[in-house]
Amino acid sequence: MNFELLCSQIQGLVSRDPGQRGCGALVVPGDLAAAATALAAARRVLVATGFPQAGGEAETDGPPGAIALAGALVALGKPVLLVAEAQIVPVLAAGALALGARLPAAPYGSPAAAAFGPDLLVSIERPGRAADGEYHNMRGERITARVAPVDELFLGPLPSVAVGDGGNEIGMGKVYSRIAGAVRHGERVACVVPCSHLIAAGVSNWGAWGLVTALGARTGRRLLHGPAAEAALMSAIVAAGAIDGVTGRPEPTVDGLPLAEHLRLLEELHALQLPLAAGS
Ligand code: ZN
Ligand code: ZN
Repeated sequence: MNFELLCSQIQGLVSRDPGQRGCGALVVPGDLAAAATALAAARRVLVATGFPQAGGEAETDGPPGAIALAGALVALGKPVLLVAEAQIVPVLAAGALALGARLPAAPYGSPAAAAFGPDLLVSIERPGRAADGEYHNMRGERITARVAPVDELFLGPLPSVAVGDGGNEIGMGKVYSRIAGAVRHGERVACVVPCSHLIAAGVSNWGAWGLVTALGARTGRRLLHGPAAEAALMSAIVAAGAIDGVTGRPEPTVDGLPLAEHLRLLEELHALQLPLAAGS
């Protein structure tokens, strides 16, 4: 199967929309293939994630996908840095440990983050400012006081890849005019910050897994982790303080959907990976 066709199959899987939140209208055909190509060519990648909840907690959507993608980039020999609010950084470290990956993580604005010097930016489920300059959650509530302005990086000259599921995330400015008609509270929450390549997904972790699958196809590698590793990662981040953004509870569900549903989608993506070579 050719690469573009495979990527459109992957995009079809990850933009499945069980919560009927309207992400299908935000898909940009061709962007998943372009994003994987940009990731394959990048030398140093900054991966921003974390959507701070009411008490500043991490959400179970975003960090797992960001950790999986960062792990894949490290497996390809590329230095990465995970970036989020200081309160979320320990959650990223715990998740990476569960995945068996050594992934550096630093608070946005810290010396380590400022000195990293990426040539590609990635955002996996990060709040992005709306037209009024404020950040909002999917319920339309203003959350600016607890959000680090990571999106300002994406207003600069570096190329970027962004994943979102609600129209209020970094990168959604690329499809700004479609958001109000597609998403609840879209008029108020629509993010104005664009990106080079946008992946709209039913759940942002799925979009990140789709990126890993496409990056594997682009580079001739099997990079996607399995369901057992994902379940371990999810328990680790919940133990470290992550909560479900829909239920508000510390449980291994994402966007209110049970873990089994996420693991099923991961299996489906696995089936699209390159076949294992004989003997491997
Ligand atoms: Zn979202
Ligand atoms: Zn989500």
